Amino acid sequence: MPAQMNLSIVVPLKNEAESLPELEAWIRRVAQQHGYTYEIIFIDDGSTDASWNTIGQLKAANPKVRAIKFRRNYGKSAALHVGFQAARGQVVITMDADLQDSPDEIPELYRMIVEDRFDLVSGWKKKRHDPLEKRLPSKLFNAVASRMSGIRLHDFNCGLKAYRLPVVKAVEVYGEMHRWIPVLAKWAGFTRIGEKAVDHQARKYGRSKFGWERYINGFLDLMSVYFVGKFGKRPMHFFGTLGVLSFLIGFGFLAYLSWEKLVYKEYGIADRPLFYFGILALIIGTQLFLTGFIAEIANRNSPGRNEYLIEQEI
Ligand code: UDP
Ligand code: MG
Repeated sequence: MPAQMNLSIVVPLKNEAESLPELEAWIRRVAQQHGYTYEIIFIDDGSTDASWNTIGQLKAANPKVRAIKFRRNYGKSAALHVGFQAARGQVVITMDADLQDSPDEIPELYRMIVEDRFDLVSGWKKKRHDPLEKRLPSKLFNAVASRMSGIRLHDFNCGLKAYRLPVVKAVEVYGEMHRWIPVLAKWAGFTRIGEKAVDHQARKYGRSKFGWERYINGFLDLMSVYFVGKFGKRPMHFFGTLGVLSFLIGFGFLAYLSWEKLVYKEYGIADRPLFYFGILALIIGTQLFLTGFIAEIANRNSPGRNEYLIEQEI
């Protein structure tokens, strides 16, 4: 059996034809300088420009180039997922295609995985060359994410990241979860997560493929990741606890009102605000509880209900 390839560089791209030749040449130069065995996997995420043609030419000149083309645009997460499945290198590095990430960072990222034994190293665009209206929300976004996930990273969404191969095979990126791969990795049990300040350039060609919705969607996704990671295999513990709590509060209010009504006969019940709070809390409690049951049933029928990542067996 041939020794395992050192590196897979996974590059998701949509309409980046101008950047691709420069990027490929740069990666090739770095890999040759350091004597890596490597592959570059381009995933064309439904480009409508000349990207696929360009990739064809690059492939003809350099057999280490591999490429997959989607029939339509599915998004960066989908592209990464397919790239991860195809990757064979001991270390997998993802990189944006727009030349904002520098291939010169590859050797140090590679070293951190192989020698420092990190499972995942995330780039950190410490000195960022993006407009202010992108940098500010991004700062807030990362602060909340770091707090919520307990992972001390400055830059979750950095496209430049390095992984040990088993990590990309274990973590399933879907929807727009590419922003949260470190969180997914942590939930999967890969806890050695590191960070490296990386060089960042302004976009040279074309324009960004994401708008401001990324921040709203990003937060919603973070909550989903958090919830699924914590309660995905036991949803009743979440819904049941809240449901019972709400039910008991409602029941308590109503019991108190009834008791008052019985002892001091002159009070009505239905004209008191507490009465409506009580009923509302009862109904919400019951609903939450039933949601828990439904989630348990959904979970029982999900193919992944008994999937665990086994690290070793002796
Ligand atoms: N990208 C992709 N599919 C999409 C949107 C973007 O593959 O639907 C690629 C894009 O071509 C680039 C990377 O994802 O290589 C990052 O996108 P972009 O540079 O637009 O994001 P930003 O730098 O603004 O965060
Ligand atoms: Mg970019």
